[in-house]
Amino acid sequence: MISPETEQCIRAVTRTCKGPHVLSSEQQVKFRDLWYRYQDAGDWPAAQSVVGVLEKALKTGHLEIPDNNWEALFRRIVDLIYIRVADGCGYDFNDLILANPLDGQDRVVACPKCNNQISYKAPTFEE
Ligand SMILES: [Zn+2]
Repeated sequence: MISPETEQCIRAVTRTCKGPHVLSSEQQVKFRDLWYRYQDAGDWPAAQSVVGVLEKALKTGHLEIPDNNWEALFRRIVDLIYIRVADGCGYDFNDLILANPLDGQDRVVACPKCNNQISYKAPTFEE
């Protein structure tokens, strides 16, 4: 049985579902690896083309980035790779955390509203 104090403590942190990613995890890895390959090689046109391909595929519109501003291009690719389907579905993941044992185990749970998965380490409490 979870005490009201424990529940209050868990709910003190907001854990709202951010919604699923547009790209599958395989696609994320593929684009991430491609990006790092071009970044390591210092190949600006190739790195830019990866961003361009994603902008087109995700229909985000084009963001102009000054030549050789690797940091800005990196932030752009990260935003694109991890873009979400929606601005989050709003489900409160604390409900699932409280429904599972508070035993310090690592868990992967799926949002019951949109199936977005999160992994977390269950908190432990001295009762
Ligand atoms: Zn959700």
